[in-house]
Order: sequence, then structure tokens, then C-alpha cells
Amino acid sequence: MRDIEPEEYGLLARVREAFEETCRLFAFQLMEPSPVELLSTLEAKSGPAIREEIYHFKDKSGRDLGLRFDLTVGLTRYVASKRGLPLPYRVAAFGGMWRYDEPQHGRYRWFHQWDAEIFGSGAVEADAEVVEFTTSFLDRLGLGDYRVEVGDRRVVEGYLRRELGLEGEVAMEVMRALDKVGKKGVKAVIQEYVGKGFSRQVLEKAVELGRIRGPPEQILGEVERLGGEEAAGLVELVDSLKARGVRGVEVNLGLVRGLDYYTSIVFEVFYRPDPQLGAIAGGGRYDLLPQIFGRPDLKATGVAGGVERTLLALKAQGVRPSGALGPKAYICYIREGLRGPAARLASRLRARGVSVELELSVRRLEKQLRSAAAKGARYAVIVAPEEWSTGRVVLRDLERGEEERLEPEELVSRLSAKG
Ligand code: AMP
Repeated sequence: MRDIEPEEYGLLARVREAFEETCRLFAFQLMEPSPVELLSTLEAKSGPAIREEIYHFKDKSGRDLGLRFDLTVGLTRYVASKRGLPLPYRVAAFGGMWRYDEPQHGRYRWFHQWDAEIFGSGAVEADAEVVEFTTSFLDRLGLGDYRVEVGDRRVVEGYLRRELGLEGEVAMEVMRALDKVGKKGVKAVIQEYVGKGFSRQVLEKAVELGRIRGPPEQILGEVERLGGEEAAGLVELVDSLKARGVRGVEVNLGLVRGLDYYTSIVFEVFYRPDPQLGAIAGGGRYDLLPQIFGRPDLKATGVAGGVERTLLALKAQGVRPSGALGPKAYICYIREGLRGPAARLASRLRARGVSVELELSVRRLEKQLRSAAAKGARYAVIVAPEEWSTGRVVLRDLERGEEERLEPEELVSRLSAKG
């Protein structure tokens, strides 16, 4: 697993701030579910096959445990276990995930997700709220050039049943094939599934359905024609997103996402300038998971986003970490006897909210100033014998190369002023 270095840490803090502010605006309660779960809890979402993809182990008491691979499982377990929460309950979390993935560009074994969920509402308005949460968060970060693909597996299921007579496990397999078209391409997917014994004709018709994508105003008519009653949810979602002014919405019937889990509306968000990134967020409705935790009464919808992929998008835009990396002032002193006044000055500045690095040992001034520049300080404050004897210190603006002599009081109010 990699280390999160200072520059990335600063950007991560920026993403987290924007996320928490969006949670406040949309009235989501923030919490953090446990990083370690019973293996059986982690298997609830995707079955025992998940073992291949996660970190799991026996603890000293022989219990089978695993590190969380997303936040949805922990949040659902938590909300399901709390009777008496005011429903619908809006809850959100931000934290580290562990997956036994093969590390590559934008794919890590330890990464961060942000996550927002609404439990206890089956209304399409809840799905729309979650989508708008996502775009509002991205707008806040300055990543406004996105495409929001929306789909609904009920439309696909209805079509497969009526037009192709497919149901049950066969229909599921064909939907899995459809889900792969985006990544692998039509030809490869048809070849793979013909190899598995599926009819080429059926696959070709199913894949055709996946080609139905585009701006809602252009294709919603066709979706309604093909999807019949099952299209009602998707139409309602698109209407609500329009009323909310959500931009970049496209319908994509080929989008079905993690089939064992989502039950109807699904969506994925892509950052247009960098399609290589893959989805930067994705979500949908998963009404069955709360049932596994004993709460069939709780319906659920939510979204999760990859923080590191968001960071890559921010970096590509030249966005800097939140707050400067270097101190505002570096305090130098020239003689042992001036250490005390220099330290006092540092304390006063810090008490007024100024970021200060204090020189730790007496060195040649030139070396101290070199350190100040290397650390990215905006100013050097020099406590030197001659000036100090008249009650002043030197303030050097390292960007402009200008110097002034100021009394400590003046220096403190100057540096604590904004900018
Ligand atoms: P998922 O829970 O698989 O739907 O993933 C949600 C989001 O997490 C994705 O849209 C990605 O942005 C991000 N993500 C998933 N796996 C990784 C990984 N191994 N490394 C970094 N980001 C990831």
C-alpha cells in the first residue's frame, strides 16, 4: 500500500471539506462505520466471492474478520441495527477502504471513498436527491464538467422478458454481458457469451438495448416505448433532475452495475476531460440489502465516490492543496541570546493564527534564510542584535525581496492580517 504524501494529503483534506459542506447543505448526518467487520457481514452484499477481492483474516480469538471494502455495508448494518431512527434517515461517511486489487493508475489497495445514503424511502425523489448531492459536491470542487449516466435495470429486465422471453438466471447472465459492453466492447462480449452457450441472436438484440443512450429529450420516448410500465421510474427521475437543474444527465440503458446488489435505478458519473479515469462516483437503489440485515421495511438508495480519482481530476486542473504547504513566516535569530525573544514572537504569532516555523538552532543567517525559502515560507522574520537593541525586528518579504523594520506589535498585526 502506498503512502499519502503531504501534497496529496492537502488535496484530500480539500475534498473532505467540500464533501462535509455538501452533507451539511443536504442535511446528511456524518458518521464513520467500523473499519473491521465480521467476514459474514462483508459477504452479505456480494456473497462469498468477495473474499477474493478483500483483506480478511482470523483474529487472536479465531473470528473471521475483514477490512471494509466500501462504506455502504457498514452504514446499512448500523442503520438496520438502530430502531427508532427518524426515517427517512440520511447518513454519510468518508474513509479509507481496502481491496485486494492489482494496483495501477487510479486503482489502489488502500483508497478513500465518500458515501451518502438515504434509508427508509422508496421514492424516486430520494434517488434524485442522491444524484443532485453528487453533482453539487463536484460543482463545489470545481469539477463541473461531468456526465451523469442514469439507467434502471427494471427497464432492461422488462424488455428481456417481453421481447426475448428471458427470465431468471439467464436474464441475469445477459444483463451481466450488457454491463461488460462499456469496458470490453460489443464484439468481445458477444464472443465471450456465445462461448458460454448463449444464442448470438439473443445477445445481439440485448446489446442493441445497451446502445440506447443519450440526452433524455432525444431518447426518453424510445425508452418508454421499449420499457413500458417499467420505464416510469426512470422518466420520473429524469424529470426531477431537470427540475433541480442537474446538468449533464444522459440515459444509458446499458448501465446496470453490480447486479447482485442494485434493484432499480443506477447511475455513474464521469469526468468528461479525462475518460481514462473511469467512473468517479456511482450509486443507485439497493432495496434488498437492508433486508439481509433484518430490516425489510428499510428501502435504500445511495452513492459512493472514489476520492483518489477525484484528486487526479483536481490535479489535472492545477488545483492546489487546501492551505499553503509552507509556513507563512520563518523566524530566524542570529545569536543564542536572541532565542528567547524569537520564541516569544513565534508564540504570539501562532496565538493569532499565523503559521510559523521557528529556527531550532543558531546557524549562519544565510543558511536560515535558505531553509525559509526551501520550506516555501512567504516571509522571514529576523531577530538580529542591532535592530533588537532598538526594539525592532526585520521582516523580509521572500517573494518580493523587500525588507522592513517593525516593532513586534506591528509585525504581529501585519502578519495576522489576511493574505
Ligand atoms: P465501487 O464501490 O466499486 O462502486 O466504487 C466506487 C468508486 O470508488 C469508483 O467509482 C471509483 O472511483 C472508486 N474506486 C473503486 N475501486 C478503487 C480502487 N481500487 N482504487 C481507487 N479508487 C477506487
